Amino acid sequence: MKNGAREGFQFELATYLADQDFVYGPEPELYTPIAGFYSYGLLGKALKNKVEDKVRKVFVEHGFFEVEFPLISPEIIWKASGHLDGFNDSVISCSKCKSSFRADKLIEEETGKEIAGAKDEDLLAAIKRNEIKCPNCKGRLEWEITRHSLMMKTIIGRDIVVYNRPETATTTYLPFKRYVQFFRGKLPFTVFQIGKAFRNEISPRQHLLRMREFTQAEAQIFISKDQKQNFPPFKEVENDLLPLWSEQLQKSDKAPESVSLKNALKNNYLKNQAYAWALLLAYKVFLEMGIPKEKMRFRQHHSNERAFYADDAWDLEIELNSFGWTECCGVHDRTTYDLSQHAKFSKQKLVVRTEDGKEIVPDVIEIAFGVDRPFYALLDLAFFKRKDDDKRTVLSLPPSMAPVDVGVFPLIKKDGLPEKAKEVLQALKGSGIRTYYDDSGSIGKRYSRLDAGGIPFCVTIDHDTLKDNAVTIRERDSLKQTRVKIKDLRGTLEKFLEKGFSEK
Ligand SMILES: [Zn+2]
Repeated sequence: MKNGAREGFQFELATYLADQDFVYGPEPELYTPIAGFYSYGLLGKALKNKVEDKVRKVFVEHGFFEVEFPLISPEIIWKASGHLDGFNDSVISCSKCKSSFRADKLIEEETGKEIAGAKDEDLLAAIKRNEIKCPNCKGRLEWEITRHSLMMKTIIGRDIVVYNRPETATTTYLPFKRYVQFFRGKLPFTVFQIGKAFRNEISPRQHLLRMREFTQAEAQIFISKDQKQNFPPFKEVENDLLPLWSEQLQKSDKAPESVSLKNALKNNYLKNQAYAWALLLAYKVFLEMGIPKEKMRFRQHHSNERAFYADDAWDLEIELNSFGWTECCGVHDRTTYDLSQHAKFSKQKLVVRTEDGKEIVPDVIEIAFGVDRPFYALLDLAFFKRKDDDKRTVLSLPPSMAPVDVGVFPLIKKDGLPEKAKEVLQALKGSGIRTYYDDSGSIGKRYSRLDAGGIPFCVTIDHDTLKDNAVTIRERDSLKQTRVKIKDLRGTLEKFLEKGFSEK
């Protein structure tokens, strides 16, 4: 999609998401909104929960334990982690209207080229070369770049300065000594955290992709250097394929390659078994959510764009209709950086004793992503696929991710049909199938409403139901219908929700 078409689609999608109760905002809509803050609406929150459930499912199945650390913590933690000194953006201001912008993003938006990791003087040169003006008023930009900290400060008590965390990862490392006890001192062990994080972005745009308050899901593998090279779970998956776009392939203008984990190590695309396994796990999370394979790739960071702590870094990118290829997950080898820093600042030993009695600081491989971006990606892809017949807009979300599973509609609001419909609701109670009952307006309008909200199935109760105790199930995407007895409804719907619709 061309840039202009993309912008049109972004706007259309944002409007749709608000109208269909997925995402409200920027908030507070009722007063004067602040950029970078959004609400998950009545359907959106249900979908967000499903995204989180999939993350939990995949990590727990692979032996990870979940923790939850406070969102607010004292300055020393962020001094130790390096965020207070190193976590900032380059900012440029307009000489006329005084608005401020993130310099690198502004250049990327104007030129369509990525410039991550550039120095201040390179940014200024790029602004001059491309004659970039203020996007708000077309005024001249100041010839100065300043650094803007992304840390969001707050106060506790009367005057104690503390910070909202800018990532969950750092806070997952802090109970390290507790984990060592729990896991009987044996590496590797694995922990994840899902929760809010905050970044004081100077000019957040791009809807849910760049917010000031957002939800992260970050998993950490604590592991020794030897175990990274020789990681037993690797053997089971070494022939699985990943779409890898190495720094080398990018530099020689080649497309990503589908490579088995085994060959990725042999070709030196990836450095060790544990890291390769972590990439595959990230991929599995997104597949589990229903993101199609052909919309994903792993892009290796260039050596100059890696975070200050990372030894190797690859991003899982999803091709969005609204923003093109977009980073949705990063896998970073953070080595011993974090534990060493926290040991230094806390003056405590953060070590594990190996079998031969040596004390070592484990390495950490991190799988870092958010909940907001996969949520947005699912809706972006489903909305693009929608079928616009005369009056039919269909949000083709994967059935397992739909915010509500099934609409229950009596054909009309009399003749005992609503009472019969209540019987159907009763039959589905306790099944875990989420229903939505509606008896107002024409049946056609009720169908359209659920199609637009991405609800995959509708159950209709008509006059025949009173005689034969059977109802009609209608599928959102194909419009196919099938008739089943009320007593078989639960089992049939469970099958459809898992495997999709078939007439048999
Ligand atoms: Zn301006």
